[in-house]
Amino acid sequence: MPCFTQTVAGHGSPYAAAEAANTSHRVIMRSDDTSVAILDKHDAPPRQSVHGAALPAATLHFHEKITANNKEYLGVHPVVAVESHRQNLATLITKALQSLPDAPSASDDPSSTIRVRAGSGWTRKRKPDLVSVTRGPGMRSCLAAGIDTAKGLAVGWQVPVVGVNHMQAHALTPRLVSAMAPNSTPVVEPAFPFLSLLVSGGHTLLLHSTGLIDHTVLATTSDMAIGDAVDKMARVVVPTEIIRQSDEIMYGRLLEQFAFPLGEEEHAYAAPATRKDELARNITRWGWAIGAPLAETRSGSKSKSMEYSFSGLGSAVKRIADNAGAVLGIDERKDLAREAMRLAFEHLASRVVIALEKLRAKNVNSDLGIGTLVVSGGVASNSYLRTILRSFLDVRGFSHMQLSFPPPSLCTDNAAMIAWAGIETFEAGWESKLDMTALRKWSLDPRAGDGGILGVGSWKKIESNR
Ligand code: AMP
Ligand code: ZN
Repeated sequence: MPCFTQTVAGHGSPYAAAEAANTSHRVIMRSDDTSVAILDKHDAPPRQSVHGAALPAATLHFHEKITANNKEYLGVHPVVAVESHRQNLATLITKALQSLPDAPSASDDPSSTIRVRAGSGWTRKRKPDLVSVTRGPGMRSCLAAGIDTAKGLAVGWQVPVVGVNHMQAHALTPRLVSAMAPNSTPVVEPAFPFLSLLVSGGHTLLLHSTGLIDHTVLATTSDMAIGDAVDKMARVVVPTEIIRQSDEIMYGRLLEQFAFPLGEEEHAYAAPATRKDELARNITRWGWAIGAPLAETRSGSKSKSMEYSFSGLGSAVKRIADNAGAVLGIDERKDLAREAMRLAFEHLASRVVIALEKLRAKNVNSDLGIGTLVVSGGVASNSYLRTILRSFLDVRGFSHMQLSFPPPSLCTDNAAMIAWAGIETFEAGWESKLDMTALRKWSLDPRAGDGGILGVGSWKKIESNR
């Protein structure tokens, strides 16, 4: 970013210029996670170290998360979550500041450096030149704790602030991953357009992402989010003593570990060749079968409709467990966990395939130039989902499609993705006004009632952010 590059370049060190071109310090609020990251995005060219090796396009200096202890509620309790943000955020930021790059020794320019406490003394660090914070969608009281802190930092440091759409940040995470890869090229991937499947605790969205702020919703859930459904299934299927003994509060992760303790080698999966095969009932050795979502409407009209539905799966799993009662042993529970995940993930895959078929029909052979499916959000850390999507795409004629899953630590909510989305938005010429407030609902689609990412108020267009 210009101000940082100029300042550092003034000290004449190519390494320093590459290292510190763009620092974004951000604060994220979901509901129960308090997370802080310090991210540098380096300008190009040159992105060479003093030893000549190419540097990554972005460096994560600090990234930590504290999750509220909601275990006794088997879910997120809003008061506990807000209290946790209030308790932890300032402490985490103070810790993060220690990881800012040191200021160049000759510089004591207060506009580009800050004094940070170090033991009983002080040390000079480079000042972040942007603050990013989650503005929505989500629980307003939790978001407000982050937004108010972010505004305080922006006012104190006299730097811009960007209020980020949480779901946009999930969609952009693979671009952050590519920027952080060693020896990455200055070109961040995947390039637009791509498809995004965002699968989290609060959302299930299939998007056609054609630009930073342009994401057409192709399908969304008509009842509950997939993460919510998976959590509910886990609480029924995973034995209570395992839940009680585990520190894990991501119940979906527990469900995966319970179903596949040895991981991918247990998947043994081949996707159904046709939609008809997909809807065939698989009667298990226990005598029950789970029906595919949206398969059983009398008219059949929803079988290919561009929507998701997960509540029926959750009810089916509960019914099977209730019917088995005390005789529901570990082996049957495992089969139930595997079948429930298979059907939920095949349902996700079926709409991806329908979307690709529609795009292909519009644009013979080119699929509108789409070569990547981004899969992000907490549920994307499930490796069975990856197996199912890969197999589906291969079997249904889309083997050329790349799957882009962030590593699990960046699939679940995290501050680094908010930092990255803030930087990309800022570089595209947008920053938030200081009167921005938290948004409980916030669409990604410019055609939605609220106008999408830029449709909500409190944006300021800047001509020279890059
Ligand atoms: P997010 O809202 O993006 O932070 O995602 C949280 C959701 O992801 C929760 O519902 C978790 O249970 C779910 N989740 C996390 N890890 C996994 C996993 N390995 N398999 C399935 N769901 C998961
Ligand atoms: Zn999320």
